[in-house]
Amino acid sequence: MVRLDKDAALMALEREQGESSAFGGCTMCRLASPMNAANWIAHSEHGVVVLDGFGAREGHLLVIAKQHVERTSNLSWDVFSDLQRLIWQGNQVVERELRPARVYVATLGASKRLPMSFPHHHSHVVPVYEEDERARPASVFSWSAGVVCYEPEEAQRLSARLRGAWPSEATLPLGAGGKPLATSID
Ligand SMILES: [Zn+2]
Repeated sequence: MVRLDKDAALMALEREQGESSAFGGCTMCRLASPMNAANWIAHSEHGVVVLDGFGAREGHLLVIAKQHVERTSNLSWDVFSDLQRLIWQGNQVVERELRPARVYVATLGASKRLPMSFPHHHSHVVPVYEEDERARPASVFSWSAGVVCYEPEEAQRLSARLRGAWPSEATLPLGAGGKPLATSID
């Protein structure tokens, strides 16, 4: 795992974006395509979870809508709630496996086209390990301090580990009455 500075990360990103031309130039469509299924950590009817290849921290996950939708307000409740469930499960996994100090969740966006921002709806689940100034959201959600990149084998290993730990009904926190909370969502 290496931390690339912003300029090196932008160059690497540009190279990677060339691979998305078959998907209308949309990197998120490429990541959510069944052609990329081998790299998915989890998926549901409407979304997929992958490791962010340009992560803010080790274990930074992306929860990506399978459909190319640009605005959260254009998602139906069924789709939105399905994606939220993946976010919730992602929280469980990174807390348990990576033991961060906190986990940040964010759906971001830029009002104009920027190389490191993608209009296709996606959310970030970011384990944050520091407890000092570096943990400020403005610093976590910025490329100015560089990004985490993995060697392909490292990404595969970490994805496999998180996939293996992805919560099943039996491992979810219990609600009142000792029933897994998930049963009220199904
Ligand atoms: Zn897309």
